[in-house]
Amino acid sequence: MVISLKNKKIIFLAEKVLSKYKLCDHCLGRLFASIERGITNEDRGQKLRKNIVEYEKIKINNCWLCSGLFDEIKHFADLILDCLKGYEFDTFLIGSRIDEEIFDKEQELLKFYSQEYSEPIKMELNREIGKLLEKESDKIVDFEKPTIMVLIDTLYDVVSLQIKPIYIYGRYNKYKRDIPQTKWFCRICQGKGCRKCGYSGKMYKTSVEELISKHVLEKTRGDGESFHGCGREDIDVRMLGNGRPFVIEIKNPIIRNLDLERLKEEINNHNKEIIKVNNLHFSNKDEIVRIKNSDFKKLYRVVFIGEKAINKEKLKKVVQTLRGKTISQFTPSRVARRRANIVRDRKIYNLNIESIDGNNVTLTLEAQSGTYIKELISGDDGRTIPNISEMIGFPCKVKELDVIKIKGE
Ligand SMILES: [Zn+2]
Ligand SMILES: [Zn+2]
Repeated sequence: MVISLKNKKIIFLAEKVLSKYKLCDHCLGRLFASIERGITNEDRGQKLRKNIVEYEKIKINNCWLCSGLFDEIKHFADLILDCLKGYEFDTFLIGSRIDEEIFDKEQELLKFYSQEYSEPIKMELNREIGKLLEKESDKIVDFEKPTIMVLIDTLYDVVSLQIKPIYIYGRYNKYKRDIPQTKWFCRICQGKGCRKCGYSGKMYKTSVEELISKHVLEKTRGDGESFHGCGREDIDVRMLGNGRPFVIEIKNPIIRNLDLERLKEEINNHNKEIIKVNNLHFSNKDEIVRIKNSDFKKLYRVVFIGEKAINKEKLKKVVQTLRGKTISQFTPSRVARRRANIVRDRKIYNLNIESIDGNNVTLTLEAQSGTYIKELISGDDGRTIPNISEMIGFPCKVKELDVIKIKGE
């Protein structure tokens, strides 16, 4: 059976509550929020009061529970609108913080009455502010994934915003051998700036991350960023070919509607022969996880140099033996300080000799994601098995390494 506000039990309950507490129409109506759809709690309060013998209207300011809070909806909405000026967004959601005292009173009231038909005061407050904001802006409330989450502290009139980050996917090329992928803080001062790092706080002047993010931050006016690469190449390794997938995350952006084609042009024009980006499109958090966990095959070009001249026939045999082979690599000694020392098996799918010139050899090599190529050549004192130095019979060392293709989106 559907009950209405004219139901005897409901009227009895309302009278019981009003005999003890002076409540405004909002606060009375809210106790019966689940009865009769499509009207406000204030309407409910008014309707109920008409059916009560001792009809007495209580002004919001004199309400025992909210003491005037519901007279301030417009005031709160104006405060919020002011804070949102300049932000690009489509959807929002209101959250609020209310006076402890009101909260305690609400608990007392619900103990006295019952929670059967009521809703929390915050729920009504958030909804009413949201409705007014929808009317006064062309934005809408979204309970699932709002672009901006607004929190209003009703006691101190303070508004804070939580803004959904922007994620942009792309691929980058790196044409220079002295740039790390991401910002690398100085080991000595941890970014504060010291004599060793020339007070820059960084180990390297710039990074792929910084060269890209500078422009994205300028355009979005965000206040921070994170750069997520699909793996990373060493500082002295170039990233050629189709580029490496990445996702850049912009925190608290003011501007969201970007022309990515123009952004790309701008980044590329400013960084000619240093880095290049392509394939930019808007992305999401899940894509970060996806590219971080991907296992894309990588194609490399490696130039290495032997201690002595390298025999062509011998090298051909080495190449044949390694093709399709799985190698075992201990964490390289050069990174052991930063990473756990474990053994990893990596597959070498293919390799081909490009040229031999005395001590110098150029190979192309396709390997599983995460293979340490430098160690495959040098052997890293036996930490990589098998390795090219051992198979050739004397030490060999990588002179130049480039990633020339990453096989995956
Ligand atoms: Zn009230
Ligand atoms: Zn430093």
